[in-house]
Amino acid sequence: MHDARSATTERPRTGRPRTLHDFRLAELEAWVVERGYPRYRARQLYHWAYQQLALDYGVMSVLPKAMRQELQETLPITNLVEVRRRVTDDGETIKFLFRTEDEHFVETVLMFYPDRTTVCVSCQIGCAVGCSFCATGLSGLIRNLTPGEMVSQVVYAARVARERQRRLSNIVVMGMGEPFQNYDAVLRFVAIVNDRQGLGIGTRHITLSTAGMVPFIDRLAEEPYQVKLAVSLHAPNDGLRSQLVPLNRRWPVDELLAACRRYVAKTGRRVTFEYVLIDGLNDDEKTAAELARKLRGLLCHVNLIPYNPTPAAPLYRRPAPERIERFRAVLEHYGIPATVRYSRGVEIAAACGQLRAHEEARRGRRLPAVAGQ
Ligand code: SAH
Ligand code: SF4
Repeated sequence: MHDARSATTERPRTGRPRTLHDFRLAELEAWVVERGYPRYRARQLYHWAYQQLALDYGVMSVLPKAMRQELQETLPITNLVEVRRRVTDDGETIKFLFRTEDEHFVETVLMFYPDRTTVCVSCQIGCAVGCSFCATGLSGLIRNLTPGEMVSQVVYAARVARERQRRLSNIVVMGMGEPFQNYDAVLRFVAIVNDRQGLGIGTRHITLSTAGMVPFIDRLAEEPYQVKLAVSLHAPNDGLRSQLVPLNRRWPVDELLAACRRYVAKTGRRVTFEYVLIDGLNDDEKTAAELARKLRGLLCHVNLIPYNPTPAAPLYRRPAPERIERFRAVLEHYGIPATVRYSRGVEIAAACGQLRAHEEARRGRRLPAVAGQ
């Protein structure tokens, strides 16, 4: 049986240097005590890192100078550098591009809504899953992000939200990468951003989105964190889904939905299904009715995402608005709640994996093609 604690006490396996953003409070306490400082200094550090959102030890005037000096030399707060920021015309969506220490690029999107402020975080550089419609998958997987690199994305976003007198309220792990292929680091990230002494983002306001890795759905159901689960379904049958999401061959639709039913039974929490609508492929009424049948009796909500054109799939098209509405109406007719969600920030290349691809191209790097693309 999986021990839930292991996910949050384990050190990241990527071998990258640790930053302040990788530490849980108890570990930071041990760290400061080991170096001869009183334990309470760790709380002060945590406060400055997460309540004040400091990215520089210089401003932490409450700490002794010698300690700040030592921190500066031995423990960077973050190893992400912001290299680009784009804002939509309405100002409601902001996309960040960060450079990692090993010269890769990570995307993060901050979205302002009337009732909440959400950050969309990446958990990997690239992605190994290779869904046919997704720009991130084009490069394959370069590496996992560390918990600290994920926390840093949230801190940068929270700082920008603060400039507008907004508090970051929600996190969705729906940027680049498949969270369940970097499970331990993602769970540790959840623990850090959830800490009441730190950012204090409630786990019910944190969503993990998976392309359907069945064993990890069961594992998540056992965790003490009440995070929300989103599953990228995109099709109600194996013929169609295997074309879109290659890992469907390993975990077919019925197995995936059975895992979702177990998850709901175990946690009492609703599952969100994401469904990218692609013209003429998975968007007809018959497919909608088939989807409704498959989801019958499952506590869920369907988010219909009209396909966002990317170089990954130049032949795919977004359906006409009437088709999108018709699909939604069929689901509703069968009692399946569904909402149409247009991706935010298409004009600033905010859709999954696009800004990074632009930056790589600008630097003259070509992303390696995926077999069969
Ligand atoms: N790997 C995870 C999370 C990141 S992708 C997953 O697949 O769930 C987040 C969401 O963006 C997924 O539902 C994915 O299907 C969707 N997405 C990716 N490329 C898209 C595109 N070109 N148009 C619309 N949605 C897209
Ligand atoms: Fe990976 Fe998600 Fe993109 Fe599929 S949709 S390639 S799982 S990031």
